Amino acid sequence: MCNLGCTDSHSRVVHSTPAMPTEIAPAVSATNSTAINTNIAVDAATIFNRPQVPILCYHQIRDWRPTDSKRAKDYIVPRSKFDEQIKWLADNGYHTIQPDQLYDYLLYGRELPSKPIMISFDDSRIEQFTVARSEMSKYGFKGVYFIMTVSLGRPGYMTKQDVKQLAEEGNTIGSHTWNHSNVKNYSGDDWRIQVDKPSEELEKITGRPVKYFAYPFGLWNRQAVEQLERRGFKAAFQLSAKRDPDYPQFCVRRVIVPGEWNIPTFQRWMNNSF
Ligand SMILES: [Zn+2]
Repeated sequence: MCNLGCTDSHSRVVHSTPAMPTEIAPAVSATNSTAINTNIAVDAATIFNRPQVPILCYHQIRDWRPTDSKRAKDYIVPRSKFDEQIKWLADNGYHTIQPDQLYDYLLYGRELPSKPIMISFDDSRIEQFTVARSEMSKYGFKGVYFIMTVSLGRPGYMTKQDVKQLAEEGNTIGSHTWNHSNVKNYSGDDWRIQVDKPSEELEKITGRPVKYFAYPFGLWNRQAVEQLERRGFKAAFQLSAKRDPDYPQFCVRRVIVPGEWNIPTFQRWMNNSF
């Protein structure tokens, strides 16, 4: 048991408590010497101080309707804008990375490709599969899809088969809870219903473990972080609130791309937000 009260083993994750020694992952064989330095997990302060990788967050990708409110348009990116943004990233030499790469960078200092970017999608909308996936594949880009399992198969949302295909094509499937309720309000059985069961369902669909989590509404607190860590999650993603210096990999920042952004605005936010 560590001195922060966690009862589960978490050998690959280290708290920043000063008295606590850096934990070291299993020894690397001498014949693989190039990997030695990249298998030493660092303390939270080091993780916190690493340059942040820009991470984009999309919701709906469709043309605006007359009934869409100004606020709704923050979450609805017209198809032409999305295509333009993805093309701009490709034309400007960006490389999409996956959460496993980000985790290895944050904890072990492992190198990332030049101009790394993570492209994430929340809420399981169908056009993330039908539109975003096909547009990104033109450039060899992969995404990260945070699924709320209650919506699977509903009109306007992805099916289980879509999620399975995304995983098979090299995208990461993460959890976005069962029904998008705020983790700050969970107690008792909520953790099982909102986190454990959705993970089980997604793992059954994809055949892969669920290791990454996106907080609904981007909202989180220390209790949620500790619950996720205890459950074996490697990292979790918020929006743009201040990060917890003791758990930087559990409050990784992202920026929502609003539908109004043109390329110069998109570029400016990417450069200034991380
Ligand atoms: Zn969401």
